[in-house]
Amino acid sequence: MSLFAAVEMAPRDPILGLNEQFNADTNPAKVNLGVGVYFDENGKLPLLKCVAQAEAAMQADPKARGYLPIDGIAAYDKAVQGLVFGADSAVVQDHRVATVQAIGGTGGLKIGADFLKRLNPGAQVLISDPSWENHRALFTNAGFQVGSYPYYDADQLGINFDGMLAALNAAAEGTVVVLHACCHNPTGYDLSPAQWAQVVAAVKARNLVAFLDMAYQGFGEGIAEDGAVIQQFLAAGLDFFVSTSFSKSFSLYGERVGALSVVCASAEECTRVLSQLKIVIRTNYSNPPTHGAQVVAMVLGTPALRALWEEELAGMRLRIRAMRSALVEALNTAGVTTDLSFVTRQKGMFSYSGLNAAQMQRLRSEFGIYGVDSGRICVAALNTKNLPAVAQAMAAVMQ
Ligand code: PLP
Repeated sequence: MSLFAAVEMAPRDPILGLNEQFNADTNPAKVNLGVGVYFDENGKLPLLKCVAQAEAAMQADPKARGYLPIDGIAAYDKAVQGLVFGADSAVVQDHRVATVQAIGGTGGLKIGADFLKRLNPGAQVLISDPSWENHRALFTNAGFQVGSYPYYDADQLGINFDGMLAALNAAAEGTVVVLHACCHNPTGYDLSPAQWAQVVAAVKARNLVAFLDMAYQGFGEGIAEDGAVIQQFLAAGLDFFVSTSFSKSFSLYGERVGALSVVCASAEECTRVLSQLKIVIRTNYSNPPTHGAQVVAMVLGTPALRALWEEELAGMRLRIRAMRSALVEALNTAGVTTDLSFVTRQKGMFSYSGLNAAQMQRLRSEFGIYGVDSGRICVAALNTKNLPAVAQAMAAVMQ
């Protein structure tokens, strides 16, 4: 009997399965809208100029690769704090934020989840319904019971905000609430500032633990605008968690650059929290890798590179917005008469198109257009060349 004889086959990742199906499709007009990455107008993954310039500078002055400190590059952690909280914010000035470099946004979530499990082993975790597919698995694997709060309202093509708020108000004290800070994945629907204010009030009143997942800062309205929700949590005087990802905003997916920040009540508390975050890291992977975080730290810390990054990020944001408007226009031209304004109301890379699973399957089998069965399409994978065919196909399955 072999050691692994009883090992069960794990379920396939649904999105990776879609990619395999896409790659095997021989239709020359095929379009992959199932991905979770930003492609440029030529359908290519961009290498940002600011990244290339930082790498050139690093290559011109190569350094030996020693181990990093457990919490990562100090300049990087500081730059993350500046971006997320504002360099001049009181919490940063008062040393009340513990920030650690993490292996992507996923790594930030995982460090936070492991720390929370030690802090409050009996807590429940609530994620949005629906959410990024890894949220549930990640918190479940960290040992939590994971439930959900209502979010998407299919009838209204928007957010079931009353349902969401009612769920938060019914949650037990200490419940960890995972919130998408901006550019909700998968729906594209974000809360308004007034709705956020009510969420913050509920978190405070019920003594909940907010865990803000910020994987798309700068992809919605702008860096500061997308980070505004953080200021609301700070103003309420709450302790909370923020995971950061630079995968999308720097197009550094494979470098795995992210962070976790924990806002604490005092500098002394922050020192103790940081010591525990370091234990989590030390016992998982010892310390983080050097390259990606060095690039991000150099870009954010060098005024000319930072300005270039902001320009390139705005370029990605505006191109996505242009694709949203162009998609609505092309669908209208193709004869779709229903109100499609929700497409331009949505933020970030994704759109819940309102199409059902049968329609999404027809898009694949008849037109070679690959989106997720939930109706999610990646607007950032549209360009002026593939958009007309996508709109024609969508119109065909909608009528
Ligand atoms: N959180 C959300 C909401 C995401 O959409 C993603 C990536 O798609 C992540 C976290 C993970 O980011 P990373 O690739 O940096 O681990």
